Order: sequence, then C-alpha cells, then structure tokens
Amino acid sequence: AQYVYRFGGGVSDGGAGDRNLLGGKGANLAEMAGIGLPVPPGFTITTEMCTRYYDEGETFPDSVRVEVAAGIAHIEGVTGKRFGDAADPLLVSVRSGARVSMPGMMDTVLNLGLNDETVVGLAAKAGDERFAWDSYRRFIQMYSDVVLGLDHGAFEEALEIAKEDRGYTLDTEMSADDWKGLVAEYKAVVEREWNKPFPQDVHDQLWGATAAVFGSWHSERARVYRRLNHISGDWGTAVNVQAMVFGNMGDTSATGVAFTRDPSTGDNAHYGEFLINAQGEDVVAGIRTPQYLTRAARETAGAKAASMEEAMPETFAELAKVFRLLEDHYRDMQDIEFTVERGKLWMLQTRTGKRTAKAALKIAVDMASEGLIAEEEAVARVDPAALDQLLHPTLDPDAQRDVLTKGLPASPGAASGAAVFDSDTAERRANDGEAVILVRIETSPEDIHGMHAARGILTARGGMTSHAAVVARGMGRPCVSGAGMLSIDMKARVMRIGSREIAEGETVTIDGATGEVMAGAVPTVQPELAGDFGTLMVWADKVRRLRIRANAETPADCRTARDFGAEGVGLCRTEHMFFDAARITAVRQMILAADEKGRRAALDKLLPEQRADFTEIFEVMAGLPVTIRLLDPPLHEFLPHEEDEFAEVAAAAGVDVETLKRRAAELHEFNPMLGHRGCRLGVTYPEIYEMQARAIFEAACDVAAKSGAAVVPEVMIPLVATKRELELMKAVVDKAAEAVFAEKDRRLDYLVGTMIELPRAALKAGEIADAAAFFSFGTNDLTQTTLGVSRDDAGRFLTTYVDKGIYATDPFVSIDVEGVGELIEIAATRGRATRPGIKLGICGEHGGDPASIRFCEGLGLDYVSASPYRVPIARLAAAQAAL
Ligand code: ADP
Ligand code: MG
Ligand code: MG
Repeated sequence: AQYVYRFGGGVSDGGAGDRNLLGGKGANLAEMAGIGLPVPPGFTITTEMCTRYYDEGETFPDSVRVEVAAGIAHIEGVTGKRFGDAADPLLVSVRSGARVSMPGMMDTVLNLGLNDETVVGLAAKAGDERFAWDSYRRFIQMYSDVVLGLDHGAFEEALEIAKEDRGYTLDTEMSADDWKGLVAEYKAVVEREWNKPFPQDVHDQLWGATAAVFGSWHSERARVYRRLNHISGDWGTAVNVQAMVFGNMGDTSATGVAFTRDPSTGDNAHYGEFLINAQGEDVVAGIRTPQYLTRAARETAGAKAASMEEAMPETFAELAKVFRLLEDHYRDMQDIEFTVERGKLWMLQTRTGKRTAKAALKIAVDMASEGLIAEEEAVARVDPAALDQLLHPTLDPDAQRDVLTKGLPASPGAASGAAVFDSDTAERRANDGEAVILVRIETSPEDIHGMHAARGILTARGGMTSHAAVVARGMGRPCVSGAGMLSIDMKARVMRIGSREIAEGETVTIDGATGEVMAGAVPTVQPELAGDFGTLMVWADKVRRLRIRANAETPADCRTARDFGAEGVGLCRTEHMFFDAARITAVRQMILAADEKGRRAALDKLLPEQRADFTEIFEVMAGLPVTIRLLDPPLHEFLPHEEDEFAEVAAAAGVDVETLKRRAAELHEFNPMLGHRGCRLGVTYPEIYEMQARAIFEAACDVAAKSGAAVVPEVMIPLVATKRELELMKAVVDKAAEAVFAEKDRRLDYLVGTMIELPRAALKAGEIADAAAFFSFGTNDLTQTTLGVSRDDAGRFLTTYVDKGIYATDPFVSIDVEGVGELIEIAATRGRATRPGIKLGICGEHGGDPASIRFCEGLGLDYVSASPYRVPIARLAAAQAAL
C-alpha cells in the first residue's frame, strides 16, 4: 500500500474525495493545492498507516520510512530549503487529521526541525533573530507537551517570570535576547522533567511527533469525544507534515481563521479574526485580543484595532478572492485557516463550516438563488429537525438566566409567565390577560384547558412522550417535562427546587429547547416565517409527493395548521371537545344515565355543541379533507377522581353522590388502554357514535349550503380489530348520513374508514378493507400494542433499552421500522389488494418525525398527519424522502 500522499508545488496525489484515507484536513489540503490555491507543500501519512501502526505494536514499517523520506524530499524540492540544514533549515508542522473533524481533541506540533544549530541559520536567513528564537521556544514548549508529555505549566510559569522580571505585560515586548534566554530555561526544564536533553536530531523529532499524533487518536479525551459523537475508533487519524509558513515574522505577517459566510446569521459577509505577528493557535488561545477581518465588522463592534481590510488591504483582497473560489469549488460555506508571511497569503485548512439552524436555512436559500447549488440541493441540506428551533420564539441569547433546574426539552420554544399550579387557576388568570406557566407534577386529560390557557408547561414527572410532552407539542406550547428536582406544595402554593422557593404567581421562564427552568422573565425573540423559510418551503413542496395533514381539533389549531401549509386534517380527536367546562356536565349525565333513553336525552344536549365545533372546523379548512375520529377514550376519564369533586359533580349532573360513586366504581378499569374504549364504546352505545355522525353531517351540509365549498368528511372508527366491528359502526354512520341528507335535502361525499392501531387489524387488513374507504395508522397505539409497552410507563426503562441498543431510538418518537413497520407494510399491502387505491395515511406523533416520514414515503402512503407546529418539518422531510 501507498502510505504517503504529497501535495503542493504543483503536485496533488490525493483530493477531497480521499477523506477516509487522508483525513479531512489532508484531503482538503491536496484539493486546495490542486485548484491552484497557495498551500505550503507537504505530505499526508494515511489513516491506514495509523491502523497498521497500532496493529504492529506501535512501530513503523521500513517501507513507510522510505516514503516519508521521499515526502521530505518533495517539500525540500519545492521550498529550496533542507530539513536539518544549519544554513537554511526547512521547518515543518506535524498535524493530525481524522475523517471527521474532532475539534481540539487531537495534537499538532509546529516549527519542527529547530535545534541549537538550525535556529541560528533560521535567524540569519530571515534576517530576524527575534522571530527565530520566538519560534524555537514555541517549538520546545509544544513538543514537550505533545510528544514528551511534560506539563506545560512549568513553561508558562517560566515565561510569566521572564516577563515580570523585565516589567512586560505582552509577549510581543520580548526581544530576541529575551527569547534566547527563555529557550535556555526551557531546555533546562526539559532536562529536569524528562531526564534527557531536548532532542536535537530533526529526524528523531519528526518520528517522535508522528508517533505522538497517531497516539493522540487513542487519548482518553479523543475516546470520550468519539463515544459521544458516534465516531468509530477503527478509523484512525492521518498525519500531515507540511512546510511551515510564518505569521510571526513582524508586522507584515499574521495568522487568522475565517468563515466564508457568517455562521450564526448566514449573512453573505466575510467573517473571522486575525492577529498580526502571531502564529497558529494564538488566535484561539486568547493570549491577545484578535482583530476583525473587515472594516464593517470592526465598526459594528466599535473596536479600535485596525481590521485586516484596513491593515493589509492587498492581502485581504486576495483572501476575499480565495473565499469566492473556495465557495464556487466546494459549493458550501467553508471554515478556513490562513497565515500571511511577509505579505504573502497561505492557506492552511478548509472544511465545511458548522452553522446554526438559522444560518443553515439562509445559506442554503442564498446559494440556490446565487446559482451555486440547485433548489433540490438546498432542500436536501437543511435538517428538518433544526427547523423546529426556528418555528418557535426562542430566548434572547444575550439575556441573563437564573437557572433553577433542568428537565427534558419536551416541546420547543421558550415562554415566561406567572407560575400556577392547577389548570383552573391557569385558565382563570389567562382569561384575565395574564401570561401563565402551568406547573404540575404531571398532567392528565383534565389539564387540557389549563395547558391551552398557559404559555408554557412544566412538569416534575414524565418523559419525552408523557401526556404533557405530547399535548404540548401538539398545541405548539413550549414544555419542559420530568424536572425531577421540582416539588409542589399545594397547601402553601409554592414550588420548591433544591433550596429555592417560588410562590404561585411569581414569574418563571422555561426553555423547551434545552430543558432549562429559570427564575424571572427572560426576553424572547420571535421566529421569522416568511423570507428564507417560505422560499425553502416552496421548493420543498415542488419535490414532495406525500401530502401533509395536521392533527388538530380546535379552529385555532386548524388555522395554525393551514398557516404552516397543512393540506387537511388527518386526526380530529372528538373527545377533547367534551372536556370543555360547559359540556362536561352533559357528558357526565350521558355516562350516568340508567338506560338508552337517558343517554339520548343527554346526547341531545351535546349535539348542537358538536355540530358547532365541526362547522367552525369545516369553515376554516374550506374544502380540504378532514378526518374525524369518533369517541375513543374510556368513559371514566370524564368522571371526577378526587373526593372533594364528587358532591359538586353529582349536584350538577342531577344525581346523588352515591350513584355517582357507584357508577365511577363500575367504570373502573385495571388496564384502560386495553379496556372499554374506541369502537367498543360505539358497539355498546351506538347512540354516541350516531350523535357524533349526525353532528358531522349536519355541519357539513350547513357549511356546503353556505359557502358551496365541498367538504369531504372522513369519519374514522378507532381501535377496530375485526371487520364486523367496522361494519356495525359504518352502518351507524351511514344511517345517520342518510337521515341528515333527507332532512337537509342535500347529498355529500364522505368516507368511512378505520384506524389501524391493533396488530390484529393490521393482519386482517385485507378483510377490513372491504368496509373501509381508508386506513389511518394510529402509530402511537400500534406501537404500544405491538411492543406491549405502555407509553405512559415506558419512561422508566426505555432509555436503558435505547442505551443498550435493544431499540435504536425511542419507538414512540421514531417508528420501529422492523416490527411496527412490518405490520404497517402488511396492512398496506393487504388493504390495497382488496381495495386498490385505498387511501393510506398515518397520524400520531410519528407523523412529524423525519425518519418515520421517510419510511412512509417508501411505502407510498398518501399522507402523514403531524401536529400543526411540525407541519413544516414534515413538508421538508417528505421532500427529502422524495429526492
Ligand atoms: P487543529 O486541527 O487543532 O486546528 P492544525 O493542524 O490545524 O490543528 O494546526 C493548529 C494551528 O497551527 C492552526 O492555526 C494552523 O493554521 C497552524 N499551522 C498548522 N500547520 C502550519 C504550517 N505549516 N505553517 C503555519 N501554521 C500552521
Ligand atoms: Mg485547524
Ligand atoms: Mg389510538
């Protein structure tokens, strides 16, 4: 194998495509040299050599010694200097460089090739003694640290004392003689700490540094970094040996780092810092305050020190040209390192620059508008998950934060408001115009009104898929869940976090993106939904095949969904409409009724309310499809649980407390998730579904009569396991439809379909499709029932399961493609066999998850339905899945 690849001086043995072999740094140095940029000549020892070096007990084969000698000869040929030559010595850097950048993890040695003799030659040749001795002392310190493993503290201390003795504050005040004196001290430190003199043989230096760079691959910090970032330990690092260029040769020399565009805003402006008369890491090390690249940036910051544009106008113009060239070549924003040696610009590194979500969006859109990349490429480049950050208000990054504790970042966005500890109080205070944060130990369906009224939700218990988290995401409310340090004293109306106490009504702030909980108000900044975001969405929609709908049950949610581009409602959960304070009494009377007659009397009161709900939703959705799921939860969810509520509820419902308690006890279930719910309610009490169907068709007819817009209601029966269940329920719905059409003297198209959320339904989908015009995969329940895992209880063990690799990701966040996915595939195939063209979609949390959306695209489903705030994410993810 070839282990050494040269670059510079008109030669490039490798290129950007050789990242795995040459590491990112080496591959890009070769690439830059290849396109004619000024790159100091050098060579790369491959990552394969690193692996072999470890396989062979940390030794170098003879063949590589020969190749390295040829590499050195290459550099000597280009520079005209000789390695170890006393008169005109070649100095090199020995730089690490893995496949992926591991910032700050790996080692680099600069100025290698200096010794007591070559330093004299360097001084004479450069005509600058001070520069030569400055370089030598830098080399001794770096080599001692990286290669010899000596503590750098001793060197720093010696430099501090030297400066103090002379009354200096800055390194730049040190004279040639001062540096010379310090070099003598440094060598003494090495002898004392290492028991041997500092290595004078330049070849020993080179091999020592090469071994040390390979060695840094297995350093503790590199291992930890790799584990956290899922980088394989087998890859190894490459070593780059490169002729030194000197930014520390006086006032016409400099070193700097830059981005071709602003990595935090995405602005197409030169962005970076540089330092005159400095070397390598001085810019990032913070020894001196770096100067701005451009005059504009300097003026904005109100800084005095001249910018590069002002101090070195010609070199800066050259650098600006290089920026252009690099972007044209790589077609992406680059992060670069450069050095200026006596007015001459040298490029030392380039790589694709890291950026914020905001910058990623702007850069992708700008580059496509500039013609640098295609629109599809722009669509492909933006991470859909990152959009989430952009769709919600965020905390002002410059504001101060008094952090109380940290929970899980359950729903993005930030909010401030008065802490309140129950939902009724939240609603009352919000109605009075106050911003409130609902703080609960955990939330339940009874908290919906409080969650709606609150600006944000904070819970002490519950994971990323707890009730609070799921509902908050659906509503677009920021939420921090599982803040375990938090306790609430309902008597004293205070919450406690460690030693801190917050009384009800005091202001708190939550950051749903980080999970932070803060005392007091922290200012927020609003998202920008037009502009670049709008443009990218238009491009995404051009390539997208899947339709995107929203899970929405209120007119407000439907409006949000439409604003975000939803093409229909994929899941309207009717039970949320029953929790409304004005209706729950009628709901309870219905539950408490002794017979069908009593139930019908109560349902008659609910009918106009339900009809009004649907009317508003149909109006907002103006002709788009709306899937309405008939009542799903077990009835006891609507009854009180607390002792002190019974009397009040009994009085309102017109029964005595004993009757109420008896009925509540009758309805109690050991496992409500698998209990009397879904279509089982409709099978036992058909009048409930009949009322709901009637409300739907009356509303649809009314809206059609008023606006002429053809609403197509899609009536969905939940928790079906058998064809017979669906047939019975469909008959109820059809009968209601016929009755309404006769009364209103108007016919409408409508569909009756089912959720597929039980494994049996998926397996028997071929039969069920006889009665179903559509399937909507209820992936939340389908995951629970397929895995046999209750999502309300999964928090206790699911993280361990993911850590141990049992599930690759949380199956409630991203579809378990192997298991649940196979059931969906079976159901889709069998359903289509019975009813070609059967409409297929998914609803549930997975509808907004990019990986799950990719899976749905693969199956050719018709649509996914996501919570309103995730609609843009789903649009982008669906576009990427189609590319
Ligand atoms: P890192 O990966 O930690 O950035 P580098 O190998 O890029 O490490 O080098 C560290 C610093 O030294 C950078 O600022 C780089 O520009 C500088 N440097 C590396 N090689 C040379 C060289 N041949 N001449 C001048 N400066 C160099
Ligand atoms: Mg670097
Ligand atoms: Mg369900």
